[in-house]
Amino acid sequence: MNQFPRNDFSQLNPPVRTLMGPGPSDIHPRVLQAMAAPTIGHLDPAFIRIMDEIKTLLQSLFQTKNDITFPVSGTGSAGMEACMVNVVEPGDRVVICRNGVFGARMADIAQRLGAELVEVVVPFGEAFDLGMIEEAIGGKPTKLVGVVHAETSTGVCQALPEIAALAHRVDALLLADCVTSLGGMPVNLDAWGVDLAYSGTQKCLSCPPGLAPVSFSPRAVQALKDRKTKVVSWYLDLTMLLNYWGGERAYHHTAPINMLYGLREALLVVLEEGLEAVYARHRRNHEALVAGIEAMGLRMLVEPQLRLPQLNTIVIPDGVDDGAVRRALLQDYNIEIGGGLGALKGKVWRVGLMGHASRRENVVTFLAALESILSGQKASIQRGKALEAAAAV
Ligand SMILES: *Cc1c(COP(=O)(O)O)cnc(C)c1O
Repeated sequence: MNQFPRNDFSQLNPPVRTLMGPGPSDIHPRVLQAMAAPTIGHLDPAFIRIMDEIKTLLQSLFQTKNDITFPVSGTGSAGMEACMVNVVEPGDRVVICRNGVFGARMADIAQRLGAELVEVVVPFGEAFDLGMIEEAIGGKPTKLVGVVHAETSTGVCQALPEIAALAHRVDALLLADCVTSLGGMPVNLDAWGVDLAYSGTQKCLSCPPGLAPVSFSPRAVQALKDRKTKVVSWYLDLTMLLNYWGGERAYHHTAPINMLYGLREALLVVLEEGLEAVYARHRRNHEALVAGIEAMGLRMLVEPQLRLPQLNTIVIPDGVDDGAVRRALLQDYNIEIGGGLGALKGKVWRVGLMGHASRRENVVTFLAALESILSGQKASIQRGKALEAAAAV
């Protein structure tokens, strides 16, 4: 009578997809294999060594000498929260640049922390003009300026060095969201003057979601030491986390051991290919995709010099059914892409070419599938031109 109805549950058998959305992206097979290695204790000397290796590998990817560079347990948003909660105190003036969903998330966290929030807002799909940011800072004492390097909700890249210089003029820290940029395009924390940065594992690192690499500059660490109030989050309090990731190796929370195996392997995969080669591959596949899209007669949302190579925003042509196209891509071709968010809902498709998913065969398959689906929908597109245009890149 108490018998477990085993037959009600099928075997776990998720479909094999090509993940070309805004994340998660395709996982590198070496990463999945690494994650299947035996779990060991989080204080095992063999594991401590793996942790140290991950810190060194992350410093290479972030191009930083910051001692405090390690992965926080949690997804990219936990990295965002970890950066902000450790340096922002109630009443601090915080300037957040918002041109998409993730800038808005930063602003939300700043407000929750009781900061005096000043927002710089431009429409989705655009980048910031430096004058606007300078005006928002207004020469006033400011704790932090936050900006998203690669806005995954729109496909816009925001240059960071000039904003860092503006922030430093009033002694503010520059916080950069590098969730989608890390591993897909150059990220040079030290050369650019970025004080706090966070990322995530499931975008260009080709690893499952679950960890958030972060990096704190000596100035950011000083801001933490100078706090008058206690960090309001127990889980994300850096002073305690660092007693595990360095120093005494004291228990704080149980590290997600196998996720960390995966991240270590993912970082090795990137660094073995070489940073320059990885960035060049992302650029080339992006250019091929854009050439194919434009040859089909479709349009990109973002102007060329601001485009992210790893996240391509395509304007949905009039009369085309957004949902039906994405459903057909998934059901008939096993390809996942993303829809628009916020102001861009129903207006754009977001096509990720991130990490292991940034491959020539993915570009070709996607273009062919999209052309076939749009033709079926009787959309007015140029047929038979996209693949040749992509191949010419
Ligand atoms: C995905 C993403 C995040 C949030 O990461 P989660 O892993 O979903 O928590 C934050 N910022 C940007 C730019 C992102 O693309």
